[in-house]
Amino acid sequence: MSKQRLHRNVVIIGSGPAGLTAAIYSARANLKPLLIDAPVDAEKQTAPGGQLMITTEVENYPGFAEGIQGPEMMAEFRRQAERFGTEFIEAWIEKVELRERPFILHTREYVIQTETLIIASGASAKWLGIPGEAKVPDGLGGNGVSACATCDGPLPAFRNKPLVVVGGGDTAMEEATFLTRYASRVFVVHRRDKLRASKIMQDKAFRNPKLEFIWDTAIEEILGTPEDGVTGIRLRNLKTAAKRIFACSGVFIAIGHKPNTDLFKGQIETDQVGYIKTSGRSTATNIPGVFASGDVQDSIYRQAVTAAGTGCMAALDAERFLDHLPVMMPSGEEVTREGEHITADQEAIITPDGHMIPNKTEYAAPGE
Ligand code: NDP
Repeated sequence: MSKQRLHRNVVIIGSGPAGLTAAIYSARANLKPLLIDAPVDAEKQTAPGGQLMITTEVENYPGFAEGIQGPEMMAEFRRQAERFGTEFIEAWIEKVELRERPFILHTREYVIQTETLIIASGASAKWLGIPGEAKVPDGLGGNGVSACATCDGPLPAFRNKPLVVVGGGDTAMEEATFLTRYASRVFVVHRRDKLRASKIMQDKAFRNPKLEFIWDTAIEEILGTPEDGVTGIRLRNLKTAAKRIFACSGVFIAIGHKPNTDLFKGQIETDQVGYIKTSGRSTATNIPGVFASGDVQDSIYRQAVTAAGTGCMAALDAERFLDHLPVMMPSGEEVTREGEHITADQEAIITPDGHMIPNKTEYAAPGE
């Protein structure tokens, strides 16, 4: 079967808050964006709409005073993107070619060329893979098991109850500290007797009187029922092999996230973990014309509202780039669609053929 060929100005990968916000902005700017979202796959944790599709109540997104269900919110984002003419394709992207423009994306049915690419493929929480952890109805995921304390911690089911956080990194410390605001007590279960978290986060956690550590221990199973939610966990001491049941009302898995960047490996600059590097002052990556927004470039904030914010930035950056205006790169240089580079100190412009010209315009006052 021969593949259908498409050519677009803006292609967006991902349909979480970042991708859909980028779509809303670029569609309203008449750029006719094409958004490619991943099909539903439980194992790969993908669903059109991203991580909010596995969240229940969202209480911290501004504008929803009474809160809103994650999937309902993403349906609204999508309707808004559709309203301004975003085109959607649901497909696995098999390969991308980012070496030169137009960039090329291959799916089973299409070969898509694009002048700009906005990567908003998100990140996936890592899971332990133990019984009881899977999403309802197969386990208690969404019914007492969560990978996001900021999202789910304040829910009534967790108030004044003993809660467990798994992990020993900065995320685990941050989540555990946050949860002490609501829980009767928070227990951090860690597989070693030393934390990986930064010293400042460790100190803060050790000083918190509502936080306790269970060292050298793994969780083997999460216990509970659909009616009661989580009622406890089965623990195994990794040094003594002793097992015990520990009563708790919620389990927060905080063993890290994996940015969804495998597709771009070797082609785009990432940090050691795999998060795409952007300049901070724009969403530009090291490849002129490729922008990244949302959790795929953010290991720190990871909120729906920050993802939406960077989605908006990516659309505006792509629009600037298509309009032949300079866009800030991670290096601090600015680059245009024609390949001109403005040095980070703003002193010079380097033309595509390598000539350097001063970036100074002296205006003569009228009459001089
Ligand atoms: P990390 O990879 O730093 O830590 C993961 C933790 O989970 C480790 O303690 C690890 O144990 C444990 N772990 C991993 N897999 C398993 C498993 N299968 N079973 C049990 N335990 C497991 O991830 P984080 O998400 O904490 O942090 C990622 C990055 O983001 C870091 O660079 C961090 O500094 C940064 N970050 C910064 C924040 C801030 O500055 N406010 C907030 C959150 C994150 P072990 O130690 O034994 O390997």
